[in-house]
Amino acid sequence: MSCLFCRIVAGEIPASKVHEDERLIAFKDVNPQAPMHVLIVPRQEIAGVASVPESGDHQFLLNAAKTIAEQLGLANGYRIVINQGLDAGQTVDHLHAHLIGGRKLRWPPG
Ligand code: 5GP
Repeated sequence: MSCLFCRIVAGEIPASKVHEDERLIAFKDVNPQAPMHVLIVPRQEIAGVASVPESGDHQFLLNAAKTIAEQLGLANGYRIVINQGLDAGQTVDHLHAHLIGGRKLRWPPG
């Protein structure tokens, strides 16, 4: 069986999509940590940062983040987080960036 985010990418599991193009999709996190919390997911299945190939859908993550943040009206700022591996708390082994905003964010993160 394919991974959770592969199934969302394939449309087999519903998600609240905010953006979609030929390389990436973005949808609201089911457990939001801020008023706006979106996951940006390359369509290509890559387990995480530790296994990114030299080129691929992931190269367009930042461009998508910028576009989505503008669309969502996050003019005051936002944070992009990618968890890699156990120590960072990665729970879904399909590369994704968290786009978080809509409130003042603390630094450093926990
Ligand atoms: P990670 O911990 O791997 O960096 O992030 C995985 C994220 O996926 C978590 O923030 C979690 O809330 C979110 N998530 C897990 N399952 C689902 C789901 O079925 N739908 C959506 N929209 N988000 C999910």
